[in-house]
Amino acid sequence: MNIHEYQAKELLRGYGVPVAKGVPLTSADEAEAAARQLPGPLYVVKSQIHAGGRGKGKFKELGPDAKGGVRLAKTVEEVVSNVKEMLGNTLVTKQTSEAGKQVNRLYIEDGADIDRELYLSILVDRTVGRIAFVASTEGGMDIEQVAHDTPEKIVTVPVDPSTGLGDAELKQLIEAYKLDGAAAEDAKSLFPALYKAFTEKDMSLLEVNPLIVMTDGHLRVLDAKVSFDNNAMFRHPELAELRDVTEEDEKEIEASKYDLAYVALDGNIGCMVNGAGLAMATMDIIKLYGAEPANFLDVGGGASKEKVTAAFKIITADPAVKGILVNIFGGIMKCDVIAEGVIAAVKEVGLKVPLVVRLEGTNVDLGKKILRESGLDVVPADDLDDAAQKIVAAVKGN
Ligand code: GDP
Ligand code: MG
Repeated sequence: MNIHEYQAKELLRGYGVPVAKGVPLTSADEAEAAARQLPGPLYVVKSQIHAGGRGKGKFKELGPDAKGGVRLAKTVEEVVSNVKEMLGNTLVTKQTSEAGKQVNRLYIEDGADIDRELYLSILVDRTVGRIAFVASTEGGMDIEQVAHDTPEKIVTVPVDPSTGLGDAELKQLIEAYKLDGAAAEDAKSLFPALYKAFTEKDMSLLEVNPLIVMTDGHLRVLDAKVSFDNNAMFRHPELAELRDVTEEDEKEIEASKYDLAYVALDGNIGCMVNGAGLAMATMDIIKLYGAEPANFLDVGGGASKEKVTAAFKIITADPAVKGILVNIFGGIMKCDVIAEGVIAAVKEVGLKVPLVVRLEGTNVDLGKKILRESGLDVVPADDLDDAAQKIVAAVKGN
């Protein structure tokens, strides 16, 4: 689960992390009062969407010459005029799709005087099986670009879970950032606080880009992106209220209601598979034969007919889907249940695209019989290879 920048900063503030004072708003009427709560003379008006790159983003409605999704303002009046211009419009950034995201909330912040912009993130580094800090002096910009062009400017510092962030790691980080004076002192409390927040709240990513050294020599978290581990959400009922479903993919929300492991992707072949490994293999083989999957979907082990029906409906409701591949290895999952789920869904929503079905395992003959006798236009496949080739050919129209 992702949250907004203003929520992430609120959470971090609770851990003693230095963040600027700020006021979120959802209507232009609130802009003046919000700005007057801040000291000035510099204000920042920040679009709150679940995507980064807002500063360099463009509002669709405002044309290419208008300013981006993070704006500096020098007076309360400027704050108000920026709020009026930004709110309700659609921001397109490197991290959104071309359709962009509607900006329904802005965060008005006390502006900082920046000396240097640094990059910091904390993540789960699976290669070493540890939480790691990723540090770079090249903050405020596209870190993927830095990693590509100048990988030597990125330092990874893994943390031993039994000791936590110790003096040795702190020293490494302070050196990596070339911090001294007040900033180095701030770092000694800031980095452990971030680590504590990360572990206590079961985050999967905490990205601060940029972390800044201000002209007064102190550190401040200027931007914050937080993702929580969905599998740990049951431990944090307090976090549930931070969820903003308007920022999430509708299909993924629907899937979560049925406890389906579903991830929307950019391709045009909808996949219904059981088991995460088989789902990934199915996506790989679709790519191998020259097409792209529209989703990852694992219906799970002992899925019910209702769950299969829901899954199939989510796939067919996606206008990008030009063909569907059902690939089931029935171990615990029974092939006849899959067949009945598919038929029930098609009865409700119809079937406008080619459907290739590969069934194997428990009750496979019964499953195939049910599909055959349903009158549905199903293309049967013998194995994974055959299935992938057939669906790719079908969506490519040959
Ligand atoms: P992002 O574009 O979505 O990553 O949004 P950020 O919060 O990182 O802001 C983008 C850029 O705006 C930063 O890298 C800064 O250069 C600038 N910026 C943001 N807040 C301030 C501020 O308080 N003072 C100044 N001078 N610049 C800021
Ligand atoms: Mg940023």
